[in-house]
Amino acid sequence: MSDSKLNAFENAKAQIDTAYNLYSPDNTQAGKLAIVKNPKRILEITIPVKMDSWETKVFTAFRAQHNDARGPFKGGIRFHQDVDRDEVKALSTWMTFKCAVIDIPLGGGKWWIIVNPKELSEWELERLSRWYVRQIYKYIGPDSDVPAPDVNTTPQIMAWMMDEYSTLVGKYSPGSFTGKPLTSGWSKWRGQATAQGGVYVLEKILQLRDDTLDGKTLCIQGAWNAGLTMAALMVDKWATVIGISDSGGGIYNKDGLDIKSLQELKKNRKSVTDYSGDFEKLDAKEVLYKECDVLIPAALENQITDENADKVQAKLIMELANGPITPEADEILEKNKIDVIPDILANAGWVMVSYFEWVQNDMNFYWEEDEIQEKLKKKIVEAAVNVGETAKKYDTTYRAWAFIVAMDRIFSAMKDRGEV
Ligand code: GLU
Repeated sequence: MSDSKLNAFENAKAQIDTAYNLYSPDNTQAGKLAIVKNPKRILEITIPVKMDSWETKVFTAFRAQHNDARGPFKGGIRFHQDVDRDEVKALSTWMTFKCAVIDIPLGGGKWWIIVNPKELSEWELERLSRWYVRQIYKYIGPDSDVPAPDVNTTPQIMAWMMDEYSTLVGKYSPGSFTGKPLTSGWSKWRGQATAQGGVYVLEKILQLRDDTLDGKTLCIQGAWNAGLTMAALMVDKWATVIGISDSGGGIYNKDGLDIKSLQELKKNRKSVTDYSGDFEKLDAKEVLYKECDVLIPAALENQITDENADKVQAKLIMELANGPITPEADEILEKNKIDVIPDILANAGWVMVSYFEWVQNDMNFYWEEDEIQEKLKKKIVEAAVNVGETAKKYDTTYRAWAFIVAMDRIFSAMKDRGEV
């Protein structure tokens, strides 16, 4: 397999092309297509930080501001030591399409700081977060670019950043970052948003296929917040989680796994392989190949590729992670009649609640948990119906249709604003 096949940005562009060829078979929107196949702007930022040792260390960060035709750039800040500029571009592209498919008035972007946060003390992490904002505050803001947490970034980090931003602009600006702690304007009911959004989408898509979650078996790759919460929500739905994995490996039991003890293990920072019940031990990727009704990749990008797609035995896949399946793998899965509910729809619950947080911050009036849940359900189910029914009608994949729904909205906004 060549590396280009694992280049997330090439993959994102291929997904856009597939959708575009169906959307505009006569190629009448080539200008708009060219625009969405590139970020509007990429910033590379240098962040000097005084470490606990009093030495100054310099960190590098990237921001891809992909598209803001429908509203401010929106997307997470990732703290990770391995970064590839193209990955940042891909993640920003998916954010634009994600916000458009669920029809929230925001664009897409992604931030990335090259750092292994585990090597930093709490103070160093706070200084890095604050100095980062000092370097970027002119390029962000509630009306222009609104970051949120992502891999290795937390509500506490968002609160420090929001505080620094507010100090620099001289006014309290809670809407400058989302995913903040409740005390600093975190929208209630945030922790479950990704998984709960995924459950609403899955139930609706199954319903459109004259099916239900009742009695279904699930395998989940990834036991962090999204995957584990998804597993916990399945208990009430009479569905059974039979396989789950984390970076330490996977576990499988065809009769089901006890989710409460898995939650306990993860709370104590242990691996799922420390599970005490009966199980077959798997390596981290094997969970993807077990026979089950629904497979949920909830870990990282590029997990199902042309090298292993043929091994997948699930009947349906729902992507809770961003970009876990490559376009080549998509083709193999389609040939094998395994449908995929795409990330831009399935994991959009998080950014939907970010949107609600941003709106509440702006009006300084806060909704109760049930109102937020109801609003999320209404909007995400609408999006699922839109994608599911049309994919069925036009006999295409859920991914292609999700991209088409989003593309139509992004192109219309660009046209109305006179961009092209
Ligand atoms: N990490 C989130 C995502 O990938 C960020 C979205 C947001 O801005 O809330 O969906």
